[in-house]
Amino acid sequence: MNQSDRNGQVQVRDMSQKSQDSRRQDLQQNTQQVLNSILNSIGSAVVVTDADGHFLTFNPAAEKMFGLDATMSAQETWSRNFGLYEVDGNTPLRESEFPLRRAMRGESADSVRLCIKNESMSFCLWVSVNIRPLLDESGRVSGGVVVFDDITSQIRLEQELRRSNSDLQQFAAVAAHDLQEPLRTIGSFLELFVQRNRAATDDKSVRYMNFIHDAVKRMQTLIDDLLTYSRVQSRAKPFEAVDCNEIVAEALADLKTSIKNSGATIDVSPLPSICADREQLKQVFQNLIGNALKFKREGVPLRVKIAATAESGSYRFSVCDNGIGIKDEYSERIFGIFQRLHSRETYPGSGIGLSICKRVVERHNGVISLHSVPGEGSTFSFTIVT
Ligand code: ADP
Repeated sequence: MNQSDRNGQVQVRDMSQKSQDSRRQDLQQNTQQVLNSILNSIGSAVVVTDADGHFLTFNPAAEKMFGLDATMSAQETWSRNFGLYEVDGNTPLRESEFPLRRAMRGESADSVRLCIKNESMSFCLWVSVNIRPLLDESGRVSGGVVVFDDITSQIRLEQELRRSNSDLQQFAAVAAHDLQEPLRTIGSFLELFVQRNRAATDDKSVRYMNFIHDAVKRMQTLIDDLLTYSRVQSRAKPFEAVDCNEIVAEALADLKTSIKNSGATIDVSPLPSICADREQLKQVFQNLIGNALKFKREGVPLRVKIAATAESGSYRFSVCDNGIGIKDEYSERIFGIFQRLHSRETYPGSGIGLSICKRVVERHNGVISLHSVPGEGSTFSFTIVT
Protein backbone atom coordinates (compact mmCIF):
# COMPACT_ATOMS: atom_id res chain seq x y z
CA MET A 1 0.00 0.00 0.00
CA ASN A 2 1.48 3.37 -1.02
CA GLN A 3 1.65 6.44 1.20
CA SER A 4 -1.39 8.21 -0.31
CA ASP A 5 -3.59 5.12 0.27
CA ARG A 6 -2.49 4.98 3.88
CA ASN A 7 -3.22 8.69 4.31
CA GLY A 8 -6.61 8.15 2.74
CA GLN A 9 -7.35 5.35 5.22
CA VAL A 10 -6.25 7.50 8.15
CA GLN A 11 -8.45 10.33 6.91
CA VAL A 12 -11.48 8.03 6.55
CA ARG A 13 -10.89 6.66 10.06
CA ASP A 14 -10.53 10.22 11.41
CA MET A 15 -13.77 11.27 9.78
CA SER A 16 -15.71 8.25 11.04
CA GLN A 17 -14.29 8.83 14.55
CA LYS A 18 -15.45 12.48 14.33
CA SER A 19 -18.94 11.53 13.22
CA GLN A 20 -19.13 8.95 16.05
CA ASP A 21 -18.03 11.60 18.54
CA SER A 22 -20.55 14.10 17.27
CA ARG A 23 -23.31 11.46 17.37
CA ARG A 24 -22.34 10.72 20.96
CA GLN A 25 -22.42 14.43 21.74
CA ASP A 26 -25.85 14.78 20.10
CA LEU A 27 -27.07 11.82 22.08
CA GLN A 28 -25.74 13.29 25.32
CA GLN A 29 -27.35 16.62 24.52
CA ASN A 30 -30.61 14.88 23.74
CA THR A 31 -30.51 12.90 26.97
CA GLN A 32 -29.74 16.08 28.90
CA GLN A 33 -32.67 17.85 27.23
CA VAL A 34 -35.04 14.99 28.01
CA LEU A 35 -33.77 14.92 31.61
CA ASN A 36 -34.22 18.68 31.94
CA SER A 37 -37.76 18.51 30.54
CA ILE A 38 -38.62 15.79 33.06
CA LEU A 39 -37.05 17.69 35.97
CA ASN A 40 -38.85 20.88 34.95
CA SER A 41 -42.24 19.29 34.57
CA ILE A 42 -42.60 16.79 37.46
CA GLY A 43 -44.34 17.73 40.72
CA SER A 44 -41.75 15.96 42.88
CA ALA A 45 -38.92 18.10 44.22
CA VAL A 46 -35.57 16.70 43.04
CA VAL A 47 -32.39 17.77 44.78
CA VAL A 48 -28.98 16.48 43.68
CA THR A 49 -25.72 17.51 45.33
CA ASP A 50 -22.08 16.72 44.74
CA ALA A 51 -19.83 15.24 47.43
CA ASP A 52 -19.17 18.72 48.90
CA GLY A 53 -22.85 19.45 49.30
CA HIS A 54 -23.17 21.82 46.35
CA PHE A 55 -26.36 21.66 44.35
CA LEU A 56 -26.09 20.00 40.97
CA THR A 57 -29.85 19.97 40.52
CA PHE A 58 -32.60 21.87 42.32
CA ASN A 59 -35.60 21.55 40.04
CA PRO A 60 -38.50 24.07 39.83
CA ALA A 61 -40.71 21.86 42.03
CA ALA A 62 -37.99 22.00 44.73
CA GLU A 63 -37.77 25.80 44.43
CA LYS A 64 -41.55 25.99 44.81
CA MET A 65 -41.73 23.47 47.66
CA PHE A 66 -38.99 25.09 49.77
CA GLY A 67 -39.22 28.70 48.52
CA LEU A 68 -35.49 28.66 47.76
CA ASP A 69 -33.21 28.70 44.79
CA ALA A 70 -30.04 26.74 44.28
CA THR A 71 -27.52 29.53 44.81
CA MET A 72 -26.38 28.46 48.26
CA SER A 73 -24.68 25.21 49.11
CA ALA A 74 -27.05 22.45 50.11
CA GLN A 75 -25.78 22.18 53.65
CA GLU A 76 -25.89 25.92 54.23
CA THR A 77 -29.38 26.12 52.78
CA TRP A 78 -30.79 23.32 54.87
CA SER A 79 -29.22 24.19 58.18
CA ARG A 80 -30.04 27.88 57.82
CA ASN A 81 -33.63 27.48 56.72
CA PHE A 82 -35.01 24.21 57.91
CA GLY A 83 -35.25 21.85 60.81
CA LEU A 84 -35.86 18.21 60.01
CA TYR A 85 -38.17 16.20 62.28
CA GLU A 86 -39.57 12.70 62.54
CA VAL A 87 -43.04 12.21 61.07
CA ASP A 88 -44.57 13.10 64.50
CA GLY A 89 -43.48 16.68 63.67
CA ASN A 90 -41.79 17.15 67.09
CA THR A 91 -38.84 14.79 67.46
CA PRO A 92 -35.77 16.36 65.81
CA LEU A 93 -34.27 14.01 63.24
CA ARG A 94 -30.76 12.79 64.12
CA GLU A 95 -28.25 14.42 61.78
CA SER A 96 -27.02 11.01 60.66
CA GLU A 97 -30.57 10.38 59.38
CA PHE A 98 -30.73 13.50 57.19
CA PRO A 99 -31.64 12.31 53.67
CA LEU A 100 -28.63 13.86 51.89
CA ARG A 101 -26.25 12.46 54.52
CA ARG A 102 -27.72 9.02 54.05
CA ALA A 103 -27.41 9.32 50.28
CA MET A 104 -23.76 10.38 50.60
CA ARG A 105 -23.10 7.34 52.80
CA GLY A 106 -24.24 5.27 49.83
CA GLU A 107 -27.66 4.40 51.30
CA SER A 108 -30.86 3.98 49.31
CA ALA A 109 -34.33 4.25 50.83
CA ASP A 110 -37.91 4.76 49.63
CA SER A 111 -40.97 6.48 51.12
CA VAL A 112 -39.21 7.83 54.22
CA ARG A 113 -41.71 10.14 55.94
CA LEU A 114 -40.35 13.33 57.50
CA CYS A 115 -41.45 16.73 58.64
CA ILE A 116 -39.59 19.84 57.50
CA LYS A 117 -40.16 22.98 59.54
CA ASN A 118 -39.15 26.59 59.84
CA GLU A 119 -40.88 27.85 62.99
CA SER A 120 -40.17 31.55 62.36
CA MET A 121 -41.69 31.35 58.87
CA SER A 122 -44.57 29.09 60.04
CA PHE A 123 -43.36 26.67 57.41
CA CYS A 124 -44.37 23.08 58.10
CA LEU A 125 -44.31 20.46 55.41
CA TRP A 126 -44.60 16.69 55.59
CA VAL A 127 -42.75 14.87 52.86
CA SER A 128 -42.12 11.37 51.67
CA VAL A 129 -38.55 11.08 50.38
CA ASN A 130 -36.68 8.65 48.17
CA ILE A 131 -32.95 8.59 48.77
CA ARG A 132 -30.21 7.45 46.36
CA PRO A 133 -26.43 7.91 46.25
CA LEU A 134 -25.08 9.63 43.14
CA LEU A 135 -22.48 7.29 41.65
CA ASP A 136 -19.66 8.20 39.27
CA GLU A 137 -18.55 6.03 36.34
CA SER A 138 -16.42 3.84 38.58
CA GLY A 139 -19.35 3.27 40.96
CA ARG A 140 -17.99 5.51 43.73
CA VAL A 141 -20.38 7.79 45.64
CA SER A 142 -19.93 11.30 44.24
CA GLY A 143 -23.00 12.97 45.77
CA GLY A 144 -26.63 12.39 46.72
CA VAL A 145 -30.07 12.41 45.12
CA VAL A 146 -33.19 13.10 47.17
CA VAL A 147 -36.71 13.20 45.73
CA PHE A 148 -39.37 14.87 47.91
CA ASP A 149 -43.14 14.43 47.61
CA ASP A 150 -45.45 16.70 49.58
CA ILE A 151 -47.73 14.51 51.75
CA THR A 152 -48.87 17.28 54.13
CA SER A 153 -52.59 16.98 53.32
CA GLN A 154 -52.47 13.17 53.67
CA ILE A 155 -50.72 13.44 57.07
CA ARG A 156 -53.21 16.07 58.29
CA LEU A 157 -56.09 13.80 57.28
CA GLU A 158 -54.48 10.85 59.10
CA GLN A 159 -54.00 13.01 62.22
CA GLU A 160 -57.62 14.18 62.05
CA LEU A 161 -58.83 10.60 61.62
CA ARG A 162 -56.73 9.40 64.58
CA ARG A 163 -58.06 12.24 66.73
CA SER A 164 -61.70 11.62 65.89
CA ASN A 165 -61.23 7.84 66.26
CA SER A 166 -59.77 8.28 69.69
CA ASP A 167 -62.56 10.75 70.68
CA LEU A 168 -65.16 8.28 69.48
CA GLN A 169 -63.43 5.42 71.22
CA GLN A 170 -63.32 7.35 74.48
CA PHE A 171 -66.97 8.29 74.10
CA ALA A 172 -68.02 4.67 73.45
CA ALA A 173 -65.98 3.37 76.40
CA VAL A 174 -67.26 6.00 78.84
CA ALA A 175 -70.85 5.72 77.64
CA ALA A 176 -70.83 1.94 77.85
CA HIS A 177 -69.14 1.94 81.25
CA ASP A 178 -71.45 4.59 82.75
CA LEU A 179 -74.58 2.95 81.37
CA GLN A 180 -73.82 -0.28 83.20
CA GLU A 181 -74.52 1.15 86.63
CA PRO A 182 -78.10 2.51 86.10
CA LEU A 183 -78.95 -0.63 84.14
CA ARG A 184 -77.83 -2.85 87.02
CA THR A 185 -80.01 -0.76 89.34
CA ILE A 186 -83.07 -1.20 87.07
CA GLY A 187 -82.43 -4.96 86.88
CA SER A 188 -82.06 -5.43 90.64
CA PHE A 189 -85.10 -3.30 91.59
CA LEU A 190 -87.22 -5.01 88.94
CA GLU A 191 -86.28 -8.33 90.55
CA LEU A 192 -87.26 -7.01 94.03
CA PHE A 193 -90.51 -5.51 92.69
CA VAL A 194 -91.52 -8.81 91.06
CA GLN A 195 -90.78 -10.75 94.28
CA ARG A 196 -92.79 -8.34 96.46
CA ASN A 197 -95.82 -8.20 94.15
CA ARG A 198 -95.86 -11.77 92.87
CA ALA A 199 -99.15 -12.64 94.59
CA ALA A 200 -100.93 -9.44 93.59
CA THR A 201 -99.88 -9.18 89.92
CA ASP A 202 -102.23 -10.18 87.13
CA ASP A 203 -101.17 -11.93 83.89
CA LYS A 204 -100.85 -8.74 81.91
CA SER A 205 -98.55 -7.17 84.51
CA VAL A 206 -96.39 -10.32 84.53
CA ARG A 207 -96.09 -10.09 80.75
CA TYR A 208 -95.06 -6.44 80.97
CA MET A 209 -92.49 -7.30 83.65
CA ASN A 210 -91.06 -9.98 81.36
CA PHE A 211 -90.75 -7.46 78.54
CA ILE A 212 -88.85 -5.09 80.82
CA HIS A 213 -86.67 -7.95 82.04
CA ASP A 214 -85.81 -9.01 78.45
CA ALA A 215 -85.09 -5.43 77.43
CA VAL A 216 -82.72 -5.00 80.40
CA LYS A 217 -80.91 -8.23 79.48
CA ARG A 218 -80.65 -7.17 75.84
CA MET A 219 -79.31 -3.79 76.79
CA GLN A 220 -76.76 -5.42 79.09
CA THR A 221 -75.56 -7.57 76.16
CA LEU A 222 -75.31 -4.53 73.88
CA ILE A 223 -73.31 -2.59 76.46
CA ASP A 224 -70.99 -5.56 77.07
CA ASP A 225 -70.48 -5.91 73.30
CA LEU A 226 -69.79 -2.21 72.92
CA LEU A 227 -67.22 -2.42 75.70
CA THR A 228 -65.58 -5.43 74.06
CA TYR A 229 -65.46 -3.50 70.79
CA SER A 230 -63.91 -0.39 72.34
CA ARG A 231 -61.38 -2.54 74.23
CA VAL A 232 -59.90 -3.95 71.00
CA GLN A 233 -57.71 -0.85 71.06
CA SER A 234 -57.64 0.19 74.73
CA ARG A 235 -56.87 -3.29 76.15
CA ALA A 236 -54.70 -4.44 73.26
CA LYS A 237 -51.73 -6.66 74.15
CA PRO A 238 -48.34 -6.61 72.42
CA PHE A 239 -47.90 -9.05 69.54
CA GLU A 240 -46.17 -12.36 70.33
CA ALA A 241 -45.37 -15.59 68.47
CA VAL A 242 -48.63 -17.51 68.26
CA ASP A 243 -49.29 -21.04 67.01
CA CYS A 244 -52.63 -20.75 65.18
CA ASN A 245 -53.28 -24.51 65.54
CA GLU A 246 -53.40 -23.97 69.32
CA ILE A 247 -55.62 -20.90 69.06
CA VAL A 248 -58.16 -22.61 66.81
CA ALA A 249 -58.17 -25.66 69.09
CA GLU A 250 -58.95 -23.37 72.06
CA ALA A 251 -61.71 -21.57 70.12
CA LEU A 252 -63.24 -24.94 69.15
CA ALA A 253 -63.09 -26.11 72.78
CA ASP A 254 -64.99 -22.97 73.86
CA LEU A 255 -67.60 -23.64 71.15
CA LYS A 256 -67.94 -27.34 72.12
CA THR A 257 -71.66 -27.12 72.98
CA SER A 258 -72.64 -25.25 69.79
CA ILE A 259 -70.62 -27.69 67.68
CA LYS A 260 -72.40 -30.62 69.33
CA ASN A 261 -75.86 -29.03 68.95
CA SER A 262 -75.32 -28.15 65.29
CA GLY A 263 -73.87 -31.60 64.46
CA ALA A 264 -71.17 -29.82 62.43
CA THR A 265 -68.12 -31.51 60.94
CA ILE A 266 -65.12 -29.25 61.47
CA ASP A 267 -62.14 -29.67 59.21
CA VAL A 268 -58.95 -27.81 60.27
CA SER A 269 -55.94 -27.76 57.90
CA PRO A 270 -52.45 -27.30 59.39
CA LEU A 271 -52.07 -23.63 60.32
CA PRO A 272 -48.94 -21.46 60.58
CA SER A 273 -47.39 -19.69 63.56
CA ILE A 274 -47.58 -15.91 63.30
CA CYS A 275 -46.87 -12.77 65.30
CA ALA A 276 -50.17 -11.53 66.77
CA ASP A 277 -52.22 -10.59 69.82
CA ARG A 278 -53.11 -14.08 71.03
CA GLU A 279 -56.42 -13.30 72.76
CA GLN A 280 -57.68 -11.09 69.96
CA LEU A 281 -56.83 -13.59 67.24
CA LYS A 282 -58.62 -16.32 69.18
CA GLN A 283 -61.65 -14.02 69.38
CA VAL A 284 -61.63 -13.60 65.58
CA PHE A 285 -61.63 -17.38 65.01
CA GLN A 286 -64.26 -17.86 67.70
CA ASN A 287 -66.58 -15.23 66.17
CA LEU A 288 -66.19 -16.56 62.62
CA ILE A 289 -66.60 -20.23 63.59
CA GLY A 290 -69.47 -19.30 65.94
CA ASN A 291 -71.28 -17.59 63.03
CA ALA A 292 -70.65 -20.57 60.73
CA LEU A 293 -72.33 -22.78 63.36
CA LYS A 294 -75.22 -20.34 63.86
CA PHE A 295 -76.16 -19.54 60.26
CA LYS A 296 -76.57 -23.15 59.10
CA ARG A 297 -79.07 -24.36 56.54
CA GLU A 298 -82.02 -26.42 57.77
CA GLY A 299 -81.71 -30.09 56.81
CA VAL A 300 -78.17 -29.78 55.38
CA PRO A 301 -75.32 -31.38 57.37
CA LEU A 302 -73.04 -28.50 58.32
CA ARG A 303 -69.38 -28.56 57.26
CA VAL A 304 -66.92 -25.92 58.42
CA LYS A 305 -63.40 -25.70 56.98
CA ILE A 306 -60.60 -23.67 58.53
CA ALA A 307 -57.43 -23.18 56.50
CA ALA A 308 -54.54 -20.84 55.77
CA THR A 309 -52.46 -20.10 52.69
CA ALA A 310 -49.20 -18.19 52.43
CA GLU A 311 -49.24 -15.04 50.29
CA SER A 312 -46.41 -12.62 49.69
CA GLY A 313 -45.75 -10.95 53.05
CA SER A 314 -48.86 -12.32 54.76
CA TYR A 315 -51.01 -15.36 55.54
CA ARG A 316 -54.62 -15.61 54.41
CA PHE A 317 -56.83 -17.47 56.89
CA SER A 318 -60.27 -18.67 55.89
CA VAL A 319 -63.36 -19.98 57.65
CA CYS A 320 -65.68 -21.58 55.13
CA ASP A 321 -69.20 -22.95 55.73
CA ASN A 322 -72.03 -24.44 53.68
CA GLY A 323 -74.69 -22.43 55.51
CA ILE A 324 -77.37 -19.95 54.42
CA GLY A 325 -74.91 -17.58 52.67
CA ILE A 326 -75.13 -13.79 52.31
CA LYS A 327 -76.21 -11.67 49.34
CA ASP A 328 -73.36 -9.79 47.67
CA GLU A 329 -74.95 -6.40 48.43
CA TYR A 330 -74.48 -6.98 52.20
CA SER A 331 -70.83 -8.05 52.03
CA GLU A 332 -69.56 -4.66 53.31
CA ARG A 333 -72.45 -3.76 55.61
CA ILE A 334 -72.20 -6.82 57.84
CA PHE A 335 -68.79 -5.64 59.12
CA GLY A 336 -70.41 -2.48 60.52
CA ILE A 337 -71.18 -2.20 64.21
CA PHE A 338 -74.61 -3.64 65.24
CA GLN A 339 -75.43 -4.61 61.63
CA ARG A 340 -77.55 -7.74 61.31
CA LEU A 341 -79.48 -9.28 58.44
CA HIS A 342 -81.98 -11.26 60.53
CA SER A 343 -84.30 -10.72 63.46
CA ARG A 344 -83.18 -11.85 66.92
CA GLU A 345 -86.00 -14.37 66.89
CA THR A 346 -84.64 -16.13 63.77
CA TYR A 347 -80.95 -16.04 64.74
CA PRO A 348 -79.81 -14.72 68.14
CA GLY A 349 -76.98 -12.17 68.30
CA SER A 350 -76.23 -8.48 68.58
CA GLY A 351 -74.37 -7.74 65.35
CA ILE A 352 -71.03 -6.89 66.91
CA GLY A 353 -68.98 -10.04 66.18
CA LEU A 354 -67.84 -9.18 62.65
CA SER A 355 -67.07 -5.54 63.50
CA ILE A 356 -64.78 -6.81 66.29
CA CYS A 357 -63.13 -9.18 63.77
CA LYS A 358 -62.56 -6.29 61.36
CA ARG A 359 -61.09 -4.08 64.06
CA VAL A 360 -58.73 -6.82 65.27
CA VAL A 361 -57.62 -7.75 61.74
CA GLU A 362 -56.96 -4.09 60.92
CA ARG A 363 -54.93 -3.73 64.11
CA HIS A 364 -52.77 -6.52 62.65
CA ASN A 365 -52.47 -4.56 59.35
CA GLY A 366 -54.66 -7.09 57.59
CA VAL A 367 -57.91 -7.06 55.64
CA ILE A 368 -61.06 -9.12 56.21
CA SER A 369 -63.46 -9.97 53.40
CA LEU A 370 -66.36 -12.21 52.48
CA HIS A 371 -67.08 -14.43 49.53
CA SER A 372 -70.54 -15.93 49.66
CA VAL A 373 -73.24 -17.53 47.55
CA PRO A 374 -76.74 -17.30 49.07
CA GLY A 375 -78.12 -20.76 49.71
CA GLU A 376 -74.68 -22.39 49.32
CA GLY A 377 -72.37 -20.97 51.98
CA SER A 378 -69.90 -18.29 53.02
CA THR A 379 -66.13 -17.97 53.22
CA PHE A 380 -64.76 -15.30 55.50
CA SER A 381 -61.06 -14.70 54.92
CA PHE A 382 -58.59 -12.39 56.56
CA THR A 383 -54.92 -11.61 56.10
CA ILE A 384 -52.32 -11.15 58.82
CA VAL A 385 -49.04 -9.57 57.81
CA THR A 386 -46.05 -11.81 58.59
P1 ADP B 1 -74.31 -11.54 64.99
O1 ADP B 1 -73.78 -12.88 64.66
O2 ADP B 1 -74.35 -11.26 66.44
O3 ADP B 1 -75.59 -11.22 64.30
P2 ADP B 1 -72.07 -10.56 63.46
O4 ADP B 1 -71.48 -9.18 63.42
O5 ADP B 1 -71.19 -11.67 63.82
O6 ADP B 1 -73.30 -10.44 64.43
O7 ADP B 1 -72.70 -10.83 62.03
C1 ADP B 1 -73.45 -9.84 61.36
C2 ADP B 1 -74.43 -10.48 60.39
O8 ADP B 1 -73.72 -11.07 59.30
C3 ADP B 1 -75.23 -11.62 60.99
O9 ADP B 1 -76.37 -11.14 61.70
C4 ADP B 1 -75.60 -12.42 59.77
O10 ADP B 1 -76.71 -11.83 59.14
C5 ADP B 1 -74.42 -12.23 58.86
N1 ADP B 1 -73.47 -13.39 58.97
C6 ADP B 1 -72.33 -13.44 59.66
N2 ADP B 1 -71.71 -14.63 59.50
C7 ADP B 1 -72.48 -15.35 58.67
C8 ADP B 1 -72.38 -16.65 58.08
N3 ADP B 1 -71.35 -17.47 58.34
N4 ADP B 1 -73.38 -17.06 57.25
C9 ADP B 1 -74.41 -16.25 56.98
N5 ADP B 1 -74.56 -15.00 57.49
C10 ADP B 1 -73.62 -14.55 58.32
